[in-house]
Amino acid sequence: MDALSLYLHIPFCRHRCAYCDFNTYTSLSDLQASYAQALCAEIGQVAKLAEDAGQKRPLHTIFFGGGTPSLMTLTQLDSILQTSRFALGWAAEIEISLEANPDTVDVDYLTGLADIGINRLSFGVQSAVADELQLLERSHDFETVVHVVDMARQAGLNNFNLDLIYGLPGQTLASWQRSLDAVLALEPPHLSLYCLTIEPGTPMQRWLKNGRISLPDPDLAADQYELACEVLTSTGLEHYEISNWSLPDLACRHNLTYWRNQEYLGLGAGAHGHANGMRYAVVKQPRVYIRRMQDGQSAQFPLSTAVATSQKLERREVMSDTIITQLRLLFEGLDLAAFEQQFGEPIDTAYAGLVAQLVEWGLLRILDGRLLLTKQGRFVSNQVFYRFM
Ligand code: SF4
Repeated sequence: MDALSLYLHIPFCRHRCAYCDFNTYTSLSDLQASYAQALCAEIGQVAKLAEDAGQKRPLHTIFFGGGTPSLMTLTQLDSILQTSRFALGWAAEIEISLEANPDTVDVDYLTGLADIGINRLSFGVQSAVADELQLLERSHDFETVVHVVDMARQAGLNNFNLDLIYGLPGQTLASWQRSLDAVLALEPPHLSLYCLTIEPGTPMQRWLKNGRISLPDPDLAADQYELACEVLTSTGLEHYEISNWSLPDLACRHNLTYWRNQEYLGLGAGAHGHANGMRYAVVKQPRVYIRRMQDGQSAQFPLSTAVATSQKLERREVMSDTIITQLRLLFEGLDLAAFEQQFGEPIDTAYAGLVAQLVEWGLLRILDGRLLLTKQGRFVSNQVFYRFM
């Protein structure tokens, strides 16, 4: 059995950003304490199911995502972590990440995070350009980011990620370069660069409809991605995943679990998980989540009483997920021998002629028994993945 990862969703924010469609709420902060208790109950319930099913094994990564996990108190986070340690066990070199908004923390809080075992942070920076931060309705400015990075280092939290977004309405190549230069001046050990998608139901989609903003040009977004790839080549950061760069050995181990299509538990309102041959989703509403965790007994690992939907994975689906997630890893890619061993047939047989065709088109290549996206393939990766679905 692979090592197990744990994702914990924290669905609270102070304010909703204009582009955000995540499962988060701005008026439920009074629920935080009972939510932390519900998470502890869910961890305990799933650990018991894992034990009964003979599937219990230590956690090698934990990831607090949101929402804004840095709104939780140190005591609440500590109780969740201690419950996970007691109920599921931790591997010796566990990675424990927490997403934080730059304007929600100070040096005492960051030191407290380090004290309770958090050893990796991810800061939502998004841009270094004031107009762009305003458009996104982020609540921080870039000076706060500079300060928070300094405070993280003072607290001994040297392993951190900075998120940036490109493909913004009104963003130019020059303003994107300014953001890249500004974050690189902070010498981050890890960078995640995401292309904006304007999601249904967000203020940004309304602005698009009423003409306040215009649809970003996808060709410009591709140029921005290409610029980032060029600029980051000379920094010592490795481009290890389509959207992620890190110093050697500081790739996000939790996210590697997703990209290797390995198992992880997803707990908390709206979280998704993948374990025991199933994918599942927890109920989204925090109040309903808390109520569900107060009653009943669950029956089947990894499904707690708060799970809203689950689905047994078919062999073909696992095959396709394995290819699509592993191709995202630019140097690791898909191990062809491991694929054949897992599924009992080579990829050429499973997808007759497809790999050869994509290799011929210059979108995939095979190197040392691994199937990899080419440079050209990275720019059209979604179209490559679509063919394996
Ligand atoms: S801080 Fe993150 S989760 Fe919260 S509203 Fe903004 S983008 Fe969404």
